[in-house]
Amino acid sequence: MSLIVQKFGGSSVANAESIKRVAKRIVETRKAGNEVVVAVSAMGDTTDDLLDLAHAVAPIPAPREMDMLLSAGERISMALLAMAIESLGHDARSFTGSQAGMITDARHGAARIVDVTPVRLREALDEGAIVIVAGFQGFNRDTKDITTLGRGGSDTTAVALAAALNADICEIYTDVDGIFTADPRVVPKASKIDRITSEEMLELAANGAKVLYIRAVEYARRHGVTLHVRSSFNNNEGTIVYNPSETEPAVEEPMIAGVATDLSEAKITVVGVPDIPGKAAQIFTIVAKTGANIDMIVQNVSAASTGLTDISFTLPKSEGQLVLTALRAEQEETGFKALQYDDQIGKLALVGAGMRTNAGVSAKLFTALFDAGINIEMISTSEIRISVVTRADTINDALRVVHTAFGLDADEEAVVHAGTGR
Ligand code: ADP
Ligand code: ASP
Ligand code: MG
Repeated sequence: MSLIVQKFGGSSVANAESIKRVAKRIVETRKAGNEVVVAVSAMGDTTDDLLDLAHAVAPIPAPREMDMLLSAGERISMALLAMAIESLGHDARSFTGSQAGMITDARHGAARIVDVTPVRLREALDEGAIVIVAGFQGFNRDTKDITTLGRGGSDTTAVALAAALNADICEIYTDVDGIFTADPRVVPKASKIDRITSEEMLELAANGAKVLYIRAVEYARRHGVTLHVRSSFNNNEGTIVYNPSETEPAVEEPMIAGVATDLSEAKITVVGVPDIPGKAAQIFTIVAKTGANIDMIVQNVSAASTGLTDISFTLPKSEGQLVLTALRAEQEETGFKALQYDDQIGKLALVGAGMRTNAGVSAKLFTALFDAGINIEMISTSEIRISVVTRADTINDALRVVHTAFGLDADEEAVVHAGTGR
């Protein structure tokens, strides 16, 4: 008997009809002779709606209460899904994150899983039940409080369950047919990818492809879990995310796996920094103390006449004000002249393991953007990625021209089955 973990995202359980459809699918998997564990997200845009409500009653909601609130979304969908399965004549039991043994650290809103103790799940499976677990939530042993894993965190719940229960496969059901070479909502001619390495998927997820949550991909990579991302609206084969190994080496690597974009970052420029050793260290020590996640960094050549230089870096918009305040507080000591804040930037990342052995990828990327009249403001590279920063309002055009330039356009348009893309 195989053990299959299935995760259904919010758009797959958006209303009663969808829940019944998903219940049928789960039952079919059970009837085929498998043990089934399901991780489920909150219905439709529930999490966003709850967030809006919280901000309507408090400008800065308390993190503990926010997690109490948001975890309610998955509690609703898990119970409804279990009921729908029961009404099809199968035994189903729902569990909250803490009942399922999802032990996390205490960081509200961005908790990390530190242990999984699925004792009750194993018992329920042994009794022949289908197990439904609320995604996105956990429990901290020290504070004894409920935590959430960060937006998109139900993916991590599914992967962690698959690892802890030694599942044969972890299926991620969503509103598109798999992982595409770009977001099919923005690039209708995006092509479906059959197989992608976890290394490439990590880069895509880190750069805005929200089809999989980055921490879920990290977890799957670390624990050797193979993922199958597919549609809950049809039976088509989706995309396999795998860890190449000696026994299963990477398939013939295409030069480019995909392109992702991200509008969630802002740029801070520290203007007029004395060009002497130690200044970058001083500035980034101040930034590090805030806990902010820095992405790209660029330092200009200093003007010989002034001996001053500018340093720019990007970071999540949500951390912008915090970092500006911290830098301002130490302006005198650091000796810079001014700070500029720009939240109208967009980032595009071209990802592919084949870049390692192919020259000319950057030239092709820059030429495509130049031909479309799009200005590049920052550039950074890794072994398998090239990222550029442009104006936010040109990012979708940039995505489409780059997709075409690298020959990624499909003949047919991709289908987006549901969801608001929110
Ligand atoms: P779920 O609710 O199932 O977790 P998400 O909205 O989190 O679904 O993720 C699915 C969405 O991810 C798709 O509807 C699509 O718009 C978006 N997406 C972004 N980049 C990609 C990509 N490269 N391939 C497929 N989908 C992508
Ligand atoms: N409901 C949560 C969210 O919207 C978790 C998830 O769907 O993965 O982010
Ligand atoms: Mg998601």
